Amino acid sequence: MHTITLIPGDGIGPEVTAAVLRIFKAAGLDIEWERYEAGLIAFERYKRSLPVELLDSIRRNKVALKGPLTTPIAEGITSVNVGLRKALELYANLRPVRNLAGVESRFTGVDLIIVRENTEDLYSGLEHEVVPGVVESLKIITERASTRIAEFAFAYAKAHGRARVTAIHKANIMKLGDGLFLESARKVSREHTDVSYDERIVDALCMQLVMAPETFDVLLLPNLYGDIVSDLCAGLVGGLGVVPGANLGGDCAVFEAVHGSAPDIANKNLANPTALLLSALMMLDHLGEREAAARIRAALDEVLVAGAIRTRDLGGTASTTEFTDAVCRAVEGSG
Ligand code: ATP
Repeated sequence: MHTITLIPGDGIGPEVTAAVLRIFKAAGLDIEWERYEAGLIAFERYKRSLPVELLDSIRRNKVALKGPLTTPIAEGITSVNVGLRKALELYANLRPVRNLAGVESRFTGVDLIIVRENTEDLYSGLEHEVVPGVVESLKIITERASTRIAEFAFAYAKAHGRARVTAIHKANIMKLGDGLFLESARKVSREHTDVSYDERIVDALCMQLVMAPETFDVLLLPNLYGDIVSDLCAGLVGGLGVVPGANLGGDCAVFEAVHGSAPDIANKNLANPTALLLSALMMLDHLGEREAAARIRAALDEVLVAGAIRTRDLGGTASTTEFTDAVCRAVEGSG
């Protein structure tokens, strides 16, 4: 039995987390979920967007599954997603981007791993108005965080049989900040000569990704470029509805999809739960539940390949519930 913290989130979060919980139940997984609100809902109820009890629960359980949380634009509330990553020192954001069987997309053969630094860069939230009409946003890059994420990328590459790590930067312009990120990556690369290493300037990377994404392997990026390039890469393989992610630290792991709360389709039973389901399967692997993860993965593939039942983002007409029903049936059929 596993005890896992669950943050349903807001927007489409509650719908996609409910779908994952049903599929896990169909697979017969024995999990006790500790459910917590966060973000705007928690703020309205408890006057705290990141309740202490929630953080304590994750620290205790070491693992959480999280739905998206809305980050209000320019309203003075700092991002709960960023707060959570900082509070738990979840310094690595891992996002595997692969073609899914049965999901048509612009490219085939895409199989790349995004390793995004998760704790600093422009996400430090340090901004101030110097004089009226002039704002300064601080981009923080440290040797410690840059080295730590580079070590993570190389360790991941080795553990998963990956051949190459590509560090992404704009050090031609930000010579000190991105320069330090790059120099840290170079240093770490010299300790791992069995994995090849190269570099790309972020704008050139974007062009190459939309021309030949299959040529990339592990991408190592500072926080902001990692955020932007993640959505670009999601677009290469079928969109935000199909790309999973994990936030990993020394101690805890929080699994969540790349997509946000998608308010345009919230509460309409339209969201694709695949991205969160794949994140949850990464979580099962992390917990050593490999057999169950593989069984659910096979059921998901079966439904996607059959193609009759798919959500609107993938060109189908099925609701979240109908798609979830189909995956549950496939899981039960495989048992
Ligand atoms: P955030 O700022 O919170 O990261 P975002 O601006 O990246 O959010 P998302 O909420 O991630 O935006 O989604 C952008 C659009 O992609 C949504 O408006 C929605 O139409 C589509 N989308 C995202 N996730 C899904 C999903 N799981 N299923 C179907 N469509 C989705």
